[in-house]
Amino acid sequence: HSPFTRGKDSSMVDNVIAVRDIRKAFAGVQALDGITLEIAPGEIHCLAGENGSGKSTLIKVISGVHSPDSGTIEMNGKTFSHLNPSEAIANGVQVIYQDFSVFPNLSVMENLALNAEVAAGRTFINWRRMRATAKAAIAKIDFDIDLDAKVGTLSVAQKQLVAISRALMSDARLIIMDEPTTALTKREVDALFKIILDLKARGIATLFVSHKLEEVFEISERFTIIRNGESVITCLPEDLDHKKFSYYMTGREFDDARFTPELVVQEPVLEVSNLGVDGAFADVNLTLCPGEILGITGLLGSGRTELALSLFGALPADTGQIRLDGKPVTLASIRSAIAHGIGYVPEDRLTEGLFLERSIGSNIIISEIDTFVSKVGVFDKAKADAAAADWVKELRIATPNPENAVSTLSGGNQQRIVLAKWLATKPKVLILNGPTVGVDIGSKHDIHRILRELAAEGLAVIIISDDIPEVIQNCNRVMVMNAGRIVAEVDPAVTTDSELAQLMSKDSASLNGKG
Ligand code: ADP
Ligand code: MG
Repeated sequence: HSPFTRGKDSSMVDNVIAVRDIRKAFAGVQALDGITLEIAPGEIHCLAGENGSGKSTLIKVISGVHSPDSGTIEMNGKTFSHLNPSEAIANGVQVIYQDFSVFPNLSVMENLALNAEVAAGRTFINWRRMRATAKAAIAKIDFDIDLDAKVGTLSVAQKQLVAISRALMSDARLIIMDEPTTALTKREVDALFKIILDLKARGIATLFVSHKLEEVFEISERFTIIRNGESVITCLPEDLDHKKFSYYMTGREFDDARFTPELVVQEPVLEVSNLGVDGAFADVNLTLCPGEILGITGLLGSGRTELALSLFGALPADTGQIRLDGKPVTLASIRSAIAHGIGYVPEDRLTEGLFLERSIGSNIIISEIDTFVSKVGVFDKAKADAAAADWVKELRIATPNPENAVSTLSGGNQQRIVLAKWLATKPKVLILNGPTVGVDIGSKHDIHRILRELAAEGLAVIIISDDIPEVIQNCNRVMVMNAGRIVAEVDPAVTTDSELAQLMSKDSASLNGKG
């Protein structure tokens, strides 16, 4: 039932597009170094590769934004050495970029219909005709939206649907989506996948770019994996398991053993009883011993982030009690949480965790800056530099120089800086919220390894995450939150991904019991 022929003779296949041995260099960077990719009509094809592997550059070659240095692009029986954007569109290629290229100040209708009006060379805008055009566009994907709403006021998912509707207005044969799920909730991802299947039913192929394993396995019919600008393999999902997929992506082999604590001191460092924040969560009870990694999972809105913030003093509890090392404490502020030995790695490292324009070194030592200032207020730069250098080494942060700005680092390395910054405060409890969101597979494994090592040294760790494999693999206990309450605690050693997913999404009464 696959849409593409698996015959040996690829000339037999009537591809929507075939790119062969594409190369492209930018000043000093060989972004593409021999990429070959074929997509059959209606096929859902995944282009996978780590950050910087060349995915976006390849898309720009296919859509006519970049001219390749060598290689060919075949479409509709014609062979091109390069394309311009209108040739790409005329041959049925449409790209949904990560920023969707929508105009926030214009209405949905204007975003959808203005192009058509302008393309038709019309001088006078006929609003009725525009409305009809726009209506027809959203009808194609059963998208129910107020055509007069300003696009800037829409959710990310809705903006994406506007971009998809617009792409379908021309005769698209291939829709390319560059990391379309980055900012979507699980439910929105499901809705998007339904649209992709709809497109397929109408013979429209999708090239889906992602490095999120679980997703690409769910939707893709075939994979092309690239690394450092080179094609590594094209294969079917049944030819891949997660381990092979990671290997092709990174060129590294990872140990996928589940976490079992090496050292658990059976004396809780953290005890939480009946904790609650009005309107966010209630009746939370948990204990955590040194050496443990506790997972707290739940969907967006389940209260998981609020609980984390509460344990970090950023959202003080209205009810209940927190004990650290057996003593009741009040975490009324972040400062008091830090003083009690709690560290927190926030969900959005870019906005919450780091000063991007400051150096790597100063970001690391900023939370323990006091220790480098003498009683008379003199800052000991040599000592601070040495401490920063130690962490750079310890956490294998890939930088030629700790004096460089954090903004020069990849996402995975930025996340390690956030870690380093908190470890420098020598916490007893480290809470991480979505520690590997948007991070490459390679860095993700490294971060997990670091957390396991820290646990083995006696740190108590809490990972808050909706990444099911992440908590199953790396925690020795997992608590599930739903509608502001802990609804289950499971042993990850005997729990499957799908069992956990079910617990997370089970409908339950809302917090006040009235829903
Ligand atoms: P991906 O989308 O897989 O993350 P990209 O295609 O964006 O990767 O980048 C591939 C490589 O090419 C990276 O090293 C990136 O820094 C480099 N690169 C991409 N676009 C440009 C450009 N316009 N100028 C210089 N280097 C670029
Ligand atoms: Mg990209």
